[in-house]
Amino acid sequence: MERNADVVVIGGGGAGMSAALFASSAGASVTLLEADSKLGGATALSDAVIYAAGTSVQRRLGIADSADAMYFYIMTLNAWQTRPDIIRILSDRSSEAIEWAMQLGVGFDWVAESGVDGVARGHCTNGGGAALCAALAAEMARHDIEVCLGVRAERLLTEGGAVTGVHADGVDYRAKAVVVTTGGFGNSPEMRARHFPTAAQHGSWVYAVHHNAPFILGDGIKLGEAVGAAISGHDTGLLNPSANLVPFVIEAYLPDWIMVVNDYGRRFMPENISYAVSGYLMNQQPNAHAWAVFSESALVAGTEAGRELTPYRSGLLSETWNAGRIRGEAENGRVRKAGSLAELAEITGTDGLGLEATVERYNAACREGTDREWSKQMRPEFVIDGPPYYAIELKASSIGQTSAGLTIDADGRVQDAHGRPIAGLYAAGETLGCVQGRRYAGGGMGIASALVFGRLAGEEAGKFAKGGSAQEV
Ligand SMILES: Cc1cc2nc3c(=O)[nH]c(=O)nc-3n(C[C@H](O)[C@H](O)[C@H](O)COP(=O)(O)OP(=O)(O)OC[C@H]3O[C@@H](n4cnc5c(N)ncnc54)[C@H](O)[C@@H]3O)c2cc1C
Repeated sequence: MERNADVVVIGGGGAGMSAALFASSAGASVTLLEADSKLGGATALSDAVIYAAGTSVQRRLGIADSADAMYFYIMTLNAWQTRPDIIRILSDRSSEAIEWAMQLGVGFDWVAESGVDGVARGHCTNGGGAALCAALAAEMARHDIEVCLGVRAERLLTEGGAVTGVHADGVDYRAKAVVVTTGGFGNSPEMRARHFPTAAQHGSWVYAVHHNAPFILGDGIKLGEAVGAAISGHDTGLLNPSANLVPFVIEAYLPDWIMVVNDYGRRFMPENISYAVSGYLMNQQPNAHAWAVFSESALVAGTEAGRELTPYRSGLLSETWNAGRIRGEAENGRVRKAGSLAELAEITGTDGLGLEATVERYNAACREGTDREWSKQMRPEFVIDGPPYYAIELKASSIGQTSAGLTIDADGRVQDAHGRPIAGLYAAGETLGCVQGRRYAGGGMGIASALVFGRLAGEEAGKFAKGGSAQEV
């Protein structure tokens, strides 16, 4: 069986819906294939914090910022080992994506400091990813876009090296251009082992934020590879710290009332730092793990207020860093509990003298209110002082972004191993390997990439399909 459209979009998350809308606005007839029984993908499950600079929302909130500042921050954070042309597009067009979302009825009341340069760029979508996807889906309904749910793309059709459609469920969906937006590969152990070994090393601890989006399996990478696409971004995904006490819990931030040390008993970061930093540092420690250390008094003081962990004003309280859960897990040995620091060092295999020296300095900083070593605000009630003492093993094993995938040029065209565009093939969103770089710049980069490059790929694919842009091969 055969069906025809100017553009076929594979995947109906934030990138796919944006691409479909922009291809349609370019005058193309569009068919969108979605493997799941509903639209949205990981985008709909997300908090939909969107990283963007120079927006009207920032101006309304009195935040001075610019696309240039975002560009230089991301490039500097990555020591310029990421694609300047891609980061330029992301930085320059992030504000357009926010203004467009607002035109579709999406609201932003709060912008969080989600990176590590002190500038608030994390635009918190009112109502999260569900609201964002509802707005995109409503706009799709206003366009004449054919949506095929429960259709999982199996392979790309080609003629003379050009991509000319998609095969799925016994149907050839013929098209002049195809846009791949199948998201990440967080739910595939096989793809994690191939493209994200730093995550895979954590074995049974590993899970992805994508957990509830069943088709986040890396199909786009395989579809592209089969027609000669280059894969980039190997092992550059984002890993968030996890105590692994609650299955599949998504808590990217650690609380400020714990002390985090490595096997030498030494601290290596301010404990409440952004996940743009913490997971990478944790994986660089001996045995790629760390210990959260605290005493009973700090546990009580730290948890009794039921404090929210993230800067996103989500209102969500931690399921892990909860006194009842920690005491319960101490009974079954999952949380280590000891009568002295020396015993705690012994049962965790950390260096006892190192741990005692670190606790001494940490306690002095708590009493002073300032940690001069790590520039962290401290509180006297968080001193590690008197038994019982606790330690919880931490690993940066919870996948926030997979980041490896297809490579595009500045027109959203998928490139082959020689850097040449593959005719008729476009891609956007988390299936790309050329956006996130070696360091995730801050909360919101995933959706920003989905919207910015989804819009770009859709528009370019639409123009190409309608003969408006010559595609040299
Ligand atoms: C709980 C959670 C919280 C998050 N919070 C944030 C946040 O606040 N800010 C941020 O920037 N990022 C966040 N992320 C990450 C972010 O959601 C993703 O990076 C982004 O949404 C990816 O968008 P996408 O359109 O590329 O992929 P998705 O939204 O995942 O869409 C991909 C779609 O493709 C479909 N698909 C896959 N294979 C096929 C196939 N073969 N055929 C047809 N369809 C297929 C999938 O079913 C899915 O619907 C979060 C993710 C989760 C899960």
